[in-house]
Amino acid sequence: TNPAHIRNFSIVAHIDHGKSTLADRLIQFTGGLTEREMKEQVLDNMDIERERGITIKAQTVRLEYPAKDGETYVLNLIDTPGHVDFAYEVSRSLYACEGALLVVDAAQGVEAQTLANVYQAIDADLDIVPVLNKIDLPAAEPERVCQQIEDVIGIDASEALRISAKTGVGIPDVLEAIVTRLPAPKPGDPEAPLKALLVDSWYDTYLGVICLVRIMEGTLKKGMKVRLMGTGAAYHVDGVGVFRPAKQVVDSLGPGEIGFLNASIKQVRDARVGDTVTDDRRPTGTPLPGFKPAVPVVFCGLFPVDSAEFEDLRDAVERLALNDASFSFEMETSAALGFGFRCGFLGLLHLEVIRERLEREYNVDLITTAPSVIYKITMTDGTVIDLHNPADMPDPVKINTIAEPWITATIFVPDEYLGGVLKLCQDRRGIQRELTYAGSRAMVVYELPLNEVVFDFYDRLKSITKGYASFDYQWKDYREDDLVKMSVLVNDEPVDALSMIVHRSRAEARGRGMCEKLKDLIPRHMFKIPIQAAIGGRIIARETLSALRKDVTAKCYGGDATRKRKLLDKQKEGKKKMRQFGRVDIPQEAFIAALKMD
Ligand code: GDP
Ligand code: MG
Repeated sequence: TNPAHIRNFSIVAHIDHGKSTLADRLIQFTGGLTEREMKEQVLDNMDIERERGITIKAQTVRLEYPAKDGETYVLNLIDTPGHVDFAYEVSRSLYACEGALLVVDAAQGVEAQTLANVYQAIDADLDIVPVLNKIDLPAAEPERVCQQIEDVIGIDASEALRISAKTGVGIPDVLEAIVTRLPAPKPGDPEAPLKALLVDSWYDTYLGVICLVRIMEGTLKKGMKVRLMGTGAAYHVDGVGVFRPAKQVVDSLGPGEIGFLNASIKQVRDARVGDTVTDDRRPTGTPLPGFKPAVPVVFCGLFPVDSAEFEDLRDAVERLALNDASFSFEMETSAALGFGFRCGFLGLLHLEVIRERLEREYNVDLITTAPSVIYKITMTDGTVIDLHNPADMPDPVKINTIAEPWITATIFVPDEYLGGVLKLCQDRRGIQRELTYAGSRAMVVYELPLNEVVFDFYDRLKSITKGYASFDYQWKDYREDDLVKMSVLVNDEPVDALSMIVHRSRAEARGRGMCEKLKDLIPRHMFKIPIQAAIGGRIIARETLSALRKDVTAKCYGGDATRKRKLLDKQKEGKKKMRQFGRVDIPQEAFIAALKMD
């Protein structure tokens, strides 16, 4: 295709503002799918994505659009994820595009991820067309939201499109704007040595690793041998194609085009996002700058509830990692939990998505230990250790300083909930940096220790603001502070999976909260159970779970057999999800629930 007739674009938006719905409409209007074929939200194809209404993996589709100027254009749409944990996927897909549609819900207005995503698009030098979606809603206020886009984001919104992705109003204008208002890719020489950007890669059961590529120069053809310049490895290209949205094989891809190649690459890790794909026999002299790899920032231990399932877990974790290069794992042994894995994630949502997939798709019951960030520990002899796991904390007398990661968080919140949000940030050791208004919404910028955010910050924020706040964060720096390891002892046995690193000033309150929670979560036993929190040898909080004497079925007065059986079954069911620590059974939920603060 002549690059003048190509438009490569992304849709950037805050979650739920209608990006996926708009993408589906564009596919439908350009005949990629008939209405009948179009299942809801074609582009969100993982189960969990559909259930939670979030897009995790960026998806691409090629559309053909006969424009009003009489020419037919090829439109390559890259659907980007909207959630903060997946911001990295947003940024890398933007480098394959020249333009972006900025979708803003005309009733909600600009939100935290609208800002974060649009700034990434601006950083990547993309032209931006603002689109106000959901104008069918009675609460839509397009005028006000246009003004807000200009005030808060600082881009011209006078020609913002007004559409409803739901009803289809304004969709033809969107297609026309893509052609007339977004630039064509820079022309490249199709005869030059191949130079292509590896935009994304994922594992396909039939084809092996699939690489999504954007061609800059040269031509990609089936049968040629390509080299990935970062790793140096060369592969025979088994196939070249495009997504429409179904895979369709093509003869070749030329400058400006986006498509996929499959080349019997074994692991996603071998096809690094940001790498330059070139011709093995005639390599380009100027590889692309590439991206920084996505680094895990939140770690936790995953252990099978039933230790006999360890091999199943290993198998599942390995298979998941094949398809998700940002998920890392290594084996871990815990005195209390036995064999498991220490896993790294991009954020808490990523952690939850992986945990859910392991349980659901691979059918293993898991115990998740306290999420932790990476602490930098400087020892008295000067060596610096990256600590991923509180259980590995060195002897405090050998520690000189401990530093923890900080983030800059941006929160948008309606006026009436502002007080609650400020209190939450303050309680989490936050430092206020900015407080401004955009209409009736406040924008608050705080610096916060990431450690205080990984536990239940999103959940708390959501409940305080009835779901009306939006949140986004960026990495800031490492700061030294008075941090200590808090251990938890159940029946005088330390439960390493519950130990955590906390700020000394918060240790007592945290310890007390934890003991109270555990007291509620651990079922009563035939004996009395002390539950304690400690720093070093010093007990800072204590609760006692009193002994149970009665048989649970005793109160069923003999008569009703089914009820009795139900109770016993329920008890058995409960048993299955418990782990024994010394003489005490601790239910699976206790591990995560005990960490939530309220
Ligand atoms: P995404 O998170 O940005 O991909 O948002 P989705 O496309 O998944 O849309 C979020 C919700 O908004 C869904 O329930 C959609 O049905 C709804 N939605 C999307 N576009 C419109 C619209 O134009 N009008 C109305 N009323 N609802 C819409
Ligand atoms: Mg979506």
